[in-house]
Amino acid sequence: MPLIDVEPMTADLPQISHPRQPPNREPMKVNRLFLTLAVALGASLAFTITAANKGDHKHLATPKGGRLLDKTKPHAEFVVEKDRTVTIHFYSEDLKPVAATTQRVTVQADAPSGRAKLDFEKKGDSLVSKAKLPEGNGYIVVVQFKQTADAKPMNLRFKLDLTTCGECKRAEYACICDH
Ligand SMILES: [Zn+2]
Ligand SMILES: [Zn+2]
Repeated sequence: MPLIDVEPMTADLPQISHPRQPPNREPMKVNRLFLTLAVALGASLAFTITAANKGDHKHLATPKGGRLLDKTKPHAEFVVEKDRTVTIHFYSEDLKPVAATTQRVTVQADAPSGRAKLDFEKKGDSLVSKAKLPEGNGYIVVVQFKQTADAKPMNLRFKLDLTTCGECKRAEYACICDH
């Protein structure tokens, strides 16, 4: 019987930070192994982040803490408000606020309670959802964005992770750390 039964290294990051400790199998040694792995992994990850961030336009820190919607011009920012409605703000290239014009947006939320569709209306300079995002966190949303009513729609799909990023302090769906 082997001294340590090391589990296959298919564990992802969260599991590494909370290693399961098999009972009666020298938990101290197992812990140390996991720690070494985590440190090595963290170091290589940090290196990748620095390399990937150079000149990357799409991780721009938008003014209202939301997510910059890729390839939108003027830049569109997707913001989840405290009441779970969604606001779309628009900005020039240098991130000065500009008014919404002909843009059309709908959001599809693949929530645990089922699929929901949010329609938007113009309010002031922005587009505001008429309904709230369904309960839950970490489900997939698809933003359908059209520059004009009859333009070709663009579908932007991402995970609606509302937890706060430890590094940039923005919500994870709007995180600019590229991890
Ligand atoms: Zn993050
Ligand atoms: Zn971040």
